[in-house]
Amino acid sequence: MKNATLPPLTFLREPGAAPDPAGLAEVQDIVRACMQCGTCTASCPNAHAMDLTPRRMWRMLLFGLFEEVFQSRTFWLCSACYTCTLRCPRGLPLTAAMAALKRLAAAGDDAANRKKALFYQEFMRNVEKNGRVQETGLMFHYFLAMRDPLLPLEYTPLGLKLLRKGKLHFGGGGQRGALAPLFGKVREMEARP
Ligand code: SF4
Ligand code: SF4
Repeated sequence: MKNATLPPLTFLREPGAAPDPAGLAEVQDIVRACMQCGTCTASCPNAHAMDLTPRRMWRMLLFGLFEEVFQSRTFWLCSACYTCTLRCPRGLPLTAAMAALKRLAAAGDDAANRKKALFYQEFMRNVEKNGRVQETGLMFHYFLAMRDPLLPLEYTPLGLKLLRKGKLHFGGGGQRGALAPLFGKVREMEARP
């Protein structure tokens, strides 16, 4: 298994290209020793919302079913909790594999994945800045990044529903910057060879 040249967990890079074959080969190398035990799926707190289980997705990657994998929302729903990485009996760095798939999808030419990548990026920026998600700021910056003047209309019903339920926050909630040291530490660790 090669992991010295794993891509960093942060992205985005230049959009518009097809998934990088070398990057795909690296992800395949990460999961090549998978024995299909299913521990990663059983351990994943987000598996219930994924359309492919992690175990199944690793198998599909090894079979070269890249298009099906990149149409899936499984890797986008990975919240990088590292549980699967800690529990995999083969010791495979599965969280890094999920992150690599996000990066590859973000750099590809699929519009749906590009949209998800921008949302993911803005979400992480928002959490780092505010110490928690601040919904109005998140959506404002997401709409700016998408450069689609009609997109806010698409989200208006959801926004009104959240507003009625008191789920929209307009301020930082006093936790602004609280997570900055954590994000700094992650960047430091990712930069290590
Ligand atoms: S826990 Fe590891 S060995 Fe088991 S299915 Fe997942 S990746 Fe494969
Ligand atoms: S790191 Fe991602 S895929 Fe692995 S258990 Fe956590 S959420 Fe699931």
